[in-house]
Amino acid sequence: MKDFNAANEIQDLQYFGEFGGVNPSISDSSTYTFLSAKTMFDTFEGNADGCYLYSRHSSPMNLYLAQALAKLENTAAANVTASGMGAITTVLLQLCKSGDHIVSSRTIYGGTYAFLKNFLPPFQIDTSFVDISNFDAIEQAIRPTTKVVYCESVSNPLLEVADLKKLSAICKKYNIKLVVDNTFSPLSVSPGLLGADIVIHSLTKFINGSSDTVGGVYCGPQEFINDTKNVNSGACMLLGPTMDSLRAASILKNLRTLHIRMKQHSYNALYLAERFERDGLGVSYPGLSSHKHHELLKSMMHKEYGFGGILTLDAGTTDKANKLMELMQKENLGYLAVSLGFYKTLFSCSGSSTSSEIPEEERVSMGISDGLIRFSIGLDHDIERTYQRMKACMEKTGVL
Ligand SMILES: *Cc1c(COP(=O)(O)O)cnc(C)c1O
Repeated sequence: MKDFNAANEIQDLQYFGEFGGVNPSISDSSTYTFLSAKTMFDTFEGNADGCYLYSRHSSPMNLYLAQALAKLENTAAANVTASGMGAITTVLLQLCKSGDHIVSSRTIYGGTYAFLKNFLPPFQIDTSFVDISNFDAIEQAIRPTTKVVYCESVSNPLLEVADLKKLSAICKKYNIKLVVDNTFSPLSVSPGLLGADIVIHSLTKFINGSSDTVGGVYCGPQEFINDTKNVNSGACMLLGPTMDSLRAASILKNLRTLHIRMKQHSYNALYLAERFERDGLGVSYPGLSSHKHHELLKSMMHKEYGFGGILTLDAGTTDKANKLMELMQKENLGYLAVSLGFYKTLFSCSGSSTSSEIPEEERVSMGISDGLIRFSIGLDHDIERTYQRMKACMEKTGVL
């Protein structure tokens, strides 16, 4: 694990453009010509490596981006999709068919939760939601038909950390695939090295980092990636969540600065979390020793990237949370917006936004209180100055 450095792996990828450009050329085509009709047939059958057929299947730029993301996660292969949900739904529908069962962490992204809870059951794919740190409950939930254990390495929005080594051991025992959404912790956590079979990202967040597009990826063994792209039975090929080549090009360029950005996000988030905690605020950040999974994350992560850019703050009530967020936006400290990984701090009230798909009583039992604000801390140059100004907003709105 120590020897693996994803940033170096990505840096070592050298792609020239068609005319010697320093960036690879974008192929601006949905379809590709063949010199011989026989090669076209072979390509359809999947027997002509290196030939492009049609861009829903693959395109040169999407393959470059996928290769770089496979390096990020130390997997043999990867496939990019038009959104994170496009990656999540592809993976789950490839692995699970009618009659199959999923065991999922109950603290997951709202869209994933809604997909498992509402969308899949009419297709006879049921999910048991569990506390992902309760290994007995996980084993009890496993059935002969269970195909997948699903979790987020660091969960949204509560920042619970999944013990991937332990989960992987359980999955191996029952011959189940461990699927991990690593959106919150790119570079810092490498789920593949800890035993995950498939690693997913919403590229929309830290990896692209400029809040100008949605995108997704799933990383895993070559055989699995090929299965999802199979013209007869591949979930990605047949459902069609294809990323556009132009977008793939811009995401690949942004990926080149991910290591620098993650360090700054983490530095700034830890700085604020420590001070908010000292001020007596209800702050939760895995980099604080008071966080229940601080030691676990420490044991799993590549330390140079820190504990990530996300923290939560309990403002007490929805009303106070709203007032604080509105004032911080007015003071240009960040934007009242969902999503994360932007250069600018973003904040939103989880219960009434990205976790609103989860019914209220379940939210309460998970610990998503009404006044819980999720912060995605930006790349601010002078974080002490930001802290002072945020503190003033908290004092003005009665949060502090
Ligand atoms: C945003 C997000 C997703 C969904 O990704 P989209 O790109 O919006 O489809 C999935 N998982 C996590 C943890 C997320 O934060």
